[in-house]
Amino acid sequence: MAKATEWADFVIIGAGSAGCALAARLSEDPRVRVALLEAGGRDVSPLVRMPAGVGNLIRAKSAYNWGFETVAQTNMNGRRLWWPRGKGWGGSSSINGMIYIRGHARDYDQWRQMGLAEWGFRDVLPYFKRSEHNERGGDAFRGEGGPLWVSLAPVGNPLYKAFIQAGRQAGYPLTKDFNGAQQEGMGLYHLTIKDGERWSAAAAYLRPVMAERTNLKVISGALASQILIEKGRAVGVAYSAGAGKQVLSIRAEREVLLCAGAVQSPQILMLSGIGPAEHLKQHGVAVKIDAPDVGENLQDHLDVTGVYECTKPITAYTMTKGLKQFAVAAQYFATKQGAGRTNHLHAGAFLKTRGELDRPDVQLHFVNAIMMDHARHKPDRDGFTIHACQLRPESRGTVRLDSADPFDDPAIDPNYLASETDRRTMRDSVRMIRDIIRQTALTPYRGAEIMPGAQVQTDSEIDFFIRAKGETIYHPVGTCRMGRDERSVVDERLSVRGVEALRVVDASVMPTLVGGNTNAPTIMIAEKAADMILGRPPLPPEDVTIAEDRAPGRI
Ligand SMILES: Cc1cc2nc3c(=O)[nH]c(=O)nc-3n(C[C@H](O)[C@H](O)[C@H](O)COP(=O)(O)OP(=O)(O)OC[C@H]3O[C@@H](n4cnc5c(N)ncnc54)[C@H](O)[C@@H]3O)c2cc1C
Repeated sequence: MAKATEWADFVIIGAGSAGCALAARLSEDPRVRVALLEAGGRDVSPLVRMPAGVGNLIRAKSAYNWGFETVAQTNMNGRRLWWPRGKGWGGSSSINGMIYIRGHARDYDQWRQMGLAEWGFRDVLPYFKRSEHNERGGDAFRGEGGPLWVSLAPVGNPLYKAFIQAGRQAGYPLTKDFNGAQQEGMGLYHLTIKDGERWSAAAAYLRPVMAERTNLKVISGALASQILIEKGRAVGVAYSAGAGKQVLSIRAEREVLLCAGAVQSPQILMLSGIGPAEHLKQHGVAVKIDAPDVGENLQDHLDVTGVYECTKPITAYTMTKGLKQFAVAAQYFATKQGAGRTNHLHAGAFLKTRGELDRPDVQLHFVNAIMMDHARHKPDRDGFTIHACQLRPESRGTVRLDSADPFDDPAIDPNYLASETDRRTMRDSVRMIRDIIRQTALTPYRGAEIMPGAQVQTDSEIDFFIRAKGETIYHPVGTCRMGRDERSVVDERLSVRGVEALRVVDASVMPTLVGGNTNAPTIMIAEKAADMILGRPPLPPEDVTIAEDRAPGRI
């Protein structure tokens, strides 16, 4: 390995949601030198910028998508599931669905109850607000003036309104803001879209400061293979660069900050000798620290869909079919108007399958298109899709090494549906979708049910459908768990136990999966970490009143 001639105060691995936010915050001080290593390249594709390009980014492995697969899933008919993860500037925020959700306030209070004293909702709220620029202005819950642009999805297409009304008719409440005092209910999403353009973490945090900050260097095409540890301290990072895969290294004067996401942060720790000792030995990796929980505690949102024909030509299919897709793209790139400027996912819901729950346990995403198999199935007619995912699964999986080669994918085992609660909640969510769909508000639009299909009715038929068709909705967390206990991978200041000058800052540190999409929570973690790393006092906690939602799920 070449001797490290390059150096920085902080070396960050991974320019994803967390890495971009962290790099921008740490380099605000011109005296602090920051290097950001990213395995992928710049986010130059028009498909990244145009919100309607999202399906193209998700469906296949590419320069922007690692395109992982899970190991065969025991409880899902032995299937290996498709697991897209973002690559390049912005990471997963450059290929994600652009839904802005923070999770339920009680999710963070639960972290505080686990002993993570600075991670209750009152502690994290100021960081959510610091990151956000809400187009409609700030309030007790919403931020204004932050880098991450957040806009309210327009009602636009009548289908969104009909869906929300149908939920109301089925007895569910409405909510004005899923990120406000009341998460529970039917409503419109907020989106990380600015003036019709995807607002990834790279767009929000990195690109705006790149030109002016000589103290921030982004090294693209750099695959980190190992964190260099000397005398119990992280002193730098070895990485492979360029097509020739030349091995280089960079020295970290102050800290190494691992932001490679829930799949690759544990992989890089293990490649560096930090992980379960027996497992590392099996792969010939010299053990530096026996850390049995690295790669454990994997949690993800499993998703099922109800797919329906639409009897009116008002869905994304009619807007973009055949040659029209080229006209849509041309209009978008000329004027930023038309069907290209939306993600076709404006409405949703957070609902309870049982009245006694203290938070919604199911989230719905309403897509104005037939969306099957991660957009790999090409729709041939008008239709719409309702995704349902269980928000707090009990099942726990793992990320493990498949080999000691950093270019090999790790072995991902989300271990879906290992618990009866998870199986029951998913089954209930299928019934929930159908209950909403059959309401009169959707009568003018509802055609035949394509999925699950009329033949799927009994519990066992629904269970079979879920096993056969369930997929990820892309929110893995937890594999470098933050905790107070000795087995946890990082402590509450995100420092890796047993090594000095090394932190993990990304979705992998969440001890439990929050009830909602994970981009905004990951950016919040990076915002909070920046203050910890620079030794600044935390932002003052903010107390807000959360709507009492112990009421029955239906009104
Ligand atoms: C298809 C999809 C749709 C989603 N939809 C939504 C949504 O609508 N709303 C929402 O809130 N969340 C969504 N999410 C989830 C959300 O985007 C992620 O939780 C979040 O981006 C995770 O941030 P992160 O920083 O932990 O990891 P990432 O953003 O994935 O960043 C990790 C970065 O590290 C880099 N990296 C990995 N290994 C190495 C290495 N060895 N060397 C150098 N660099 C490396 C990667 O290339 C990547 O850039 C979606 C995710 C996906 C994949």
